[in-house]
Amino acid sequence: MKLEFSRVLERARRFEKLSAEDLIVLLDAGEDESAALFKLADQIRFKYMGSAVNFRGIIEFSNYCLRNCHYCGLRKDNMELARYRMKAEEIIDGAREAARLGCKTLVLQSGEDVFYTADILAEIVLKIKKEFKMAVTLSLGDRSREDYALLKEAGADRYLLKHETCDAKLFFDLRPGTSLEGRIKRLKWLRELGYQIGMGNMVGLPGQTLEILAGDIVLMRDQDVEMAGIGPFIPNKQTPLGSAPGGTLEMTLKTLATARIALPRTHLPATTSAASIHPHGRVKALGCGANVIMPNMTPRKYRGSYSIYPGK
Ligand code: SAH
Ligand code: SF4
Repeated sequence: MKLEFSRVLERARRFEKLSAEDLIVLLDAGEDESAALFKLADQIRFKYMGSAVNFRGIIEFSNYCLRNCHYCGLRKDNMELARYRMKAEEIIDGAREAARLGCKTLVLQSGEDVFYTADILAEIVLKIKKEFKMAVTLSLGDRSREDYALLKEAGADRYLLKHETCDAKLFFDLRPGTSLEGRIKRLKWLRELGYQIGMGNMVGLPGQTLEILAGDIVLMRDQDVEMAGIGPFIPNKQTPLGSAPGGTLEMTLKTLATARIALPRTHLPATTSAASIHPHGRVKALGCGANVIMPNMTPRKYRGSYSIYPGK
């Protein structure tokens, strides 16, 4: 074990606030070091979040998207995808199923689909909040402040808006027509409106460095996020990044563990993407600091079409 690594780990054990440079040392853990990193993350998860795994059902209600993110299968130029939109009643039925299975939170996610106006969505949120005792998280991408305000009034509790990468240039290259600044501005609005917020990033994006990954964690710490969704980038053949190498499970686990150390009280899901690249991805993530699982409540007939990446 390198001296520098053991020193940073020791400071982490004493709950000292780690700098971006310290986080890079942890992210760079070698084969003989990662077990110690994972163990500390697991201990911190137990100390601050307990041993319960939180289940948050997710309904992916529309795969229409007006954006063209280079990494995502829902991008509008993907003509190979069969598109679907769920009806309000179908979404409510899915919510009922999630409630029946004991989920305390329901996540409603979609591409950026203007078909669902804020009014339509507000009505769905109102019904879910009235009928079931569940927190509602929305993950609808970039919308106007007015839309976010209306949805908050309707009862939405949380909003998941992953920043994807803290590198402004990489963000712009990967998400044409949008900016990191715009994303952060929206996260600020959401906070002001009283939402709990979730951010997150992909691990292994082309052009990503350890400095950028450490920056992702620092950014989330600065924003004091309630949730951080961290998962590997998985290349999708139906996108411009189809032949790029994907993120590895090892690097994803190291990022998760480092995030747990830096964000002791933040909910960290064992992501579906981690489960997609390795048969034990989800269980391993739960051993490296993750404490949330998001079971898919999307009706089976639509599930195959929400193919953000292969193997989902
Ligand atoms: N449209 C909304 C929510 C749906 S996308 C939005 O963009 O915020 C949900 C998440 O899928 C994104 O935040 C992104 O992190 C993830 N994602 C997209 N393409 C991916 C890929 N190829 N590999 C791994 N995760 C991907
Ligand atoms: Fe649309 Fe979100 Fe996919 Fe971008 S990541 S193409 S906004 S669904």
